[in-house]
Amino acid sequence: MKILLASSEVVPFAKTGGLADVCGALPAEIQKLGHEVAVFMPAYRACKNAGVDQEDTGIRIPITVGSKIVEGALWKSHLPHSDVVVYLVHQPDYFDRVGLYQDAGEDYKDNCERFVFFCRFILESLERLNWFPDVLHANDWQTGLLPAYLKTVYAEDPRFQSIATLMTIHNLAYQGNFWHWDMLITGIDWQYFNWQQMEFYGRLNLLKTGIVFADKLSTVSPSYALEIQTTEQGHGLDTILRERSADLIGILNGIDTNEWNPAKDNHLAANYSADDWQTGKAFCKSDLQKAFGLDVDPTRPLIGIVGRIASQKGWALILEVAKQWLAKQTAVQWAILGTGDSDLENELQQLAQTSPHTLAARLEFSNELAHKVEAGSDIFLMPSLFEPCGLNQQYSMQYGTVPVVHETGGLADTVINYTDETLSAGTANGFSFSGFHAHQLEQALARAIETYAQPEIWKQIVENGMNHDWSWAASARRYESAYQAIHRARFRPQSA
Ligand code: ADP
Repeated sequence: MKILLASSEVVPFAKTGGLADVCGALPAEIQKLGHEVAVFMPAYRACKNAGVDQEDTGIRIPITVGSKIVEGALWKSHLPHSDVVVYLVHQPDYFDRVGLYQDAGEDYKDNCERFVFFCRFILESLERLNWFPDVLHANDWQTGLLPAYLKTVYAEDPRFQSIATLMTIHNLAYQGNFWHWDMLITGIDWQYFNWQQMEFYGRLNLLKTGIVFADKLSTVSPSYALEIQTTEQGHGLDTILRERSADLIGILNGIDTNEWNPAKDNHLAANYSADDWQTGKAFCKSDLQKAFGLDVDPTRPLIGIVGRIASQKGWALILEVAKQWLAKQTAVQWAILGTGDSDLENELQQLAQTSPHTLAARLEFSNELAHKVEAGSDIFLMPSLFEPCGLNQQYSMQYGTVPVVHETGGLADTVINYTDETLSAGTANGFSFSGFHAHQLEQALARAIETYAQPEIWKQIVENGMNHDWSWAASARRYESAYQAIHRARFRPQSA
């Protein structure tokens, strides 16, 4: 099959979160299964530093965006460690900017226009490339218009009629909601602006658009696939998702083991594997303590956190427990890496200033430090309120760092809480708590600290995590089955 994967973020070109990791790793796995995959993404300013060759194809296409004609250029590159082609859509006015979607915490005012251009450019470039895919895999709201264009603007063209679509929801909280007049920019007829299709409480909703028009839907863990169909976690789209329940599947993300592998990770002070992790991790721990300005102490449990500083990630709970434990002088250390909400960042900075040897917060986006935290910490804390899949807890287990998580979404699907039963079954790989309260988090963290003091049990928990196969192999096969199913069904009568 020929598969087109469209995403607004792809590692190593541009990344703000897990979407980029997935779209940088999955295509190569699909290609390994014998398919031809092409990835399309916008050429952001950040892409120039990807460290991968990029060449101009010479293709220039004028695109209708509302009442304007905007020209874009198509560049070509590839994913590292593979020959998957990555097409970069150049339009400097839209994409050569400081951020991907925002600058200094403010969303760009023309985000709808930018991604209308991106989606239309992708479809218009297919003829110029003389390459029409069997399956178009759209990811998140930025590409939500693609399935809609195929069923509206391009519906009469036979070359587009055979393209089946899969829409993957990486995080339902981000929907691409814009004012209704942006409908004019899409070029799609107003008849589709109704509550069953593109409208969401009077506004244009691009994720909803993708959900309604795609042939099949997926999200990034089986638990999250169920959760988003509930009123509590449906972010207003649960009704529409329940209607499409039969077409919605959950496929757990894998991790890119070229990038995340403690045995060959260049960012680490020492490399190690499941057979010899103790010595290697001890080096990484002292290296992390130095890098973060913490006391170098091999015995004190070190709690690591990496993640966006957004309320979703449970920072309110983290701050509450950290404050209590700092006041009680609990013998632990904290290494925190993240960027985001400025109020939460200020609170973290204040804590770090009052207890510099015990809690360190690096408020920046640094891939190198993320690797050091994953390897050098003893415990990885991830108490997300909701978590579509979560990659960091999987990285941590791959690196022998035991996760403590809130039992939700992909965290519930990957972290098996330590109990006598799960230990005997050889499945225990972390600690989880239900009930999103600081008290519950504190209890789970305290259980982890107690267990850390029992080296034999700790060793088993660490090794259960390290020996598990977190790679993409199994999940890529599930995506392949989904592609095959929609490709076959494309030629049977559809419900619109
Ligand atoms: P989400 O996609 O919701 O942000 P995930 O856990 O799925 O959460 O993925 C987050 C990705 O972003 C991981 O690869 C993580 O290492 C990375 N990341 C988040 N914040 C930072 C940061 N400050 N520096 C480096 N990497 C980060």
